Amino acid sequence: MPRTVVTRSEQETFGLARQLARGLKPGAFVLLRGDLGAGKTVFVRGLAAGLGIDPDSVTSPTFVLIQQYNGPTPLIHADLYRLEGGAAVDDLGLEELGSGGVVAVEWAERLPRAPADSVSVTIEDEGDDRRKITIAEP
Ligand code: ADP
Ligand code: MG
Repeated sequence: MPRTVVTRSEQETFGLARQLARGLKPGAFVLLRGDLGAGKTVFVRGLAAGLGIDPDSVTSPTFVLIQQYNGPTPLIHADLYRLEGGAAVDDLGLEELGSGGVVAVEWAERLPRAPADSVSVTIEDEGDDRRKITIAEP
């Protein structure tokens, strides 16, 4: 059953993600959906913190689609916002990349197929600093 949490600040979203990350094993996929400014990158920073990675090293890539951050459990961060066309998504090799770490994907709706057993995170802006976050774990 998916669980829904309403956060009231960037810090709360960060903390929620940090806690989620502690239960993730290498190879886990976290698929993030939500509009621009919803808080997907904030969530990925929280994941990084939970994996023992400096959250400030996680940026919103402008041109790079995939970045890897090394740590006790590496984090592979993909942002598919600028990806055009479905074909290229198939060529990303995300499944192979993910074998050694946790893979977080922003704009996961652009993936042609969701990887099996992925954690799905949907963030909706409820006005002001409130975000409705729905987490479905396999
Ligand atoms: P996205 O990656 O989805 O485009 P970002 O994570 O880059 O969005 O930005 C989210 C913005 O919303 C940040 O400026 C953050 O400070 C703000 N914000 C306000 N309230 C929240 C909240 N409850 N959770 C996450 N971010 C929030
Ligand atoms: Mg982002």
